Amino acid sequence: MFDVSYKNGLLFLSSKVYGDIEEDHLKAIVESVDGDFIKDHVLDAPSKYLGGSNVLGTITMNDLNFKLRRTGYSTAQNVQGMPADAFVNITEKGICSRCGALGPVIGNTATICPAESEWGKGGLCLSPPERRLHFCQKCAFLIYSGMAGTFRTFIKGANMRVMFDSSSYDSLWRASSTFADIDRGELNSLKLTIIPNGEFEAVLFAIYDFATRLTGNTTYLEQVNMYYSFSAKPCDDGGIIQGSTLHKLARFFYSTNELRETDAIKINERGEKPFPFQFFMSTSVTGDVRKPESSRLRNLFCQGLLNKKVDFPVITEIAFEKKRKGEGYPVPAFYKIVIAKYLEAFGMSEEQENFRRLNGFGYSLGKSVKGTNLEGFTWEIFRARTFEEMLETMSELQLKLGNSQNWQPLLLQKDNWKTTKAILLNGMLNAIHQGGDGGE
Ligand SMILES: [Zn+2]
Repeated sequence: MFDVSYKNGLLFLSSKVYGDIEEDHLKAIVESVDGDFIKDHVLDAPSKYLGGSNVLGTITMNDLNFKLRRTGYSTAQNVQGMPADAFVNITEKGICSRCGALGPVIGNTATICPAESEWGKGGLCLSPPERRLHFCQKCAFLIYSGMAGTFRTFIKGANMRVMFDSSSYDSLWRASSTFADIDRGELNSLKLTIIPNGEFEAVLFAIYDFATRLTGNTTYLEQVNMYYSFSAKPCDDGGIIQGSTLHKLARFFYSTNELRETDAIKINERGEKPFPFQFFMSTSVTGDVRKPESSRLRNLFCQGLLNKKVDFPVITEIAFEKKRKGEGYPVPAFYKIVIAKYLEAFGMSEEQENFRRLNGFGYSLGKSVKGTNLEGFTWEIFRARTFEEMLETMSELQLKLGNSQNWQPLLLQKDNWKTTKAILLNGMLNAIHQGGDGGE
C-alpha cells in the first residue's frame, strides 16, 4: 500500500511544483526531495487532505497530528518537533523498505503512512516497532505526501477513506483529480439525511459522488483500482474495488444520473431526494433510515451491487418485510429502471433479457390478481421453499385464473429458481401495489 501512497504523493507534488505530471517533472521531483524541499512542502499534503483547511499555525508535529487525528488519520500522540523534523533528522541506518537503498532510514509512523499492509487486510494498522517498515528520506516524504491522494467521505460514525491506484500515472491522476473536485459540504449535508450505517452502501455512494463528476471518455477508469477503509474499524475493514468494476459502477450511476433530466423521472421538480437515492432510500425496511436495523437488507443488496450482482431475492425480502409492516410501497421506487440500468452498465445482456421477460410476466400476473382474493398467492409463492413447490403454487394460481397459457418456459430455470421467483414476485407486487399502468 505504501507504493500506492508513493505514486499519489509524487503526482501531487509534481502538480503542485510544476503544474503538471510530465515524466520529466516526476523524475525531477524525486531528485529534488531533500531537507529544504521537505521544509517548503511538508504541509502541502496535509492541507489538501484536510480539505483545504488552514494548516497555518501547525508548528509542531503534535499540532499536525492533532488535526489529522480528528479525521482518524493518525494515531501518533505527543510527538514533538517541527513537522519536517521527522524527515530531516535521521539517525537510524538500514535498508529502505520501498526502494532498497542502504543508508539513513526513518521508521514508519501513522503520519508517514498509516497502512503497512493492504487495505482490507489489516490495512491502516502499524506493525509493532521492531517489525515496522523503514524508508529512506525520499521515499518517506513521497509516501507521506500521498496523503493528498487520500479522500475522506462521510459515513455515520466513521470516516471512510478512499484512495486510487493505477499502473498508469495519467489514469491515476485523472481519477484522483475527479474525486478531489467533489464539493464535500454539499454532499455531506445530503448524505447526513440519506446514508445510514451501511458500509457497503457508503462505498457505493462514494462511487456515486465520483460518477457525477465524470466527463468525456471514462474508459481510463478500467485501469484504476479504488481502495477504501473505515476509521472506526482501522484494523479489520475496507477493501478494493477493481478497475473493471469501478468503471461499470461509475457508468451505472452516470446513466441513472442522466435520467434525472428526462420526463420519466421528474424527481427534482417535486423537491425530493435526487435520483437514484430514492431507489436506495426505499430499500430500507423500517421508517427511520438512520436506524442500523433498517439498513441491514439494504446494505446486503449494496454489497451485491459492488460484486457485479443484482440480489433479487434480497429485494423480495425487503418487499415482503415492508408488506408485513404495512410500510408504503413494497418494491423500491424506480426498481425496474435502476435494475435495467445496472445490468446494462455491466453488459449482462442475458440477465437483462431474463429480467425483462420475468418482470413483465410478473407484472401482468400481478394485474390479473390485483383486487381479487388471489392476491394472497404472492405470499404462497414467497413461502415456496423448493422449485417444485413454486411450480405447484403457480399451477394452482393458473387454474384459479382459468389461464391456459403455457407458463412453463418462463419458469423452467431450476438452477436459478430463487432469482426467477424473486423477479416474478417483485413484478407482481409492483402491479398490485402501485396501480396504474406506468409503474412496472
Ligand atoms: Zn527509498
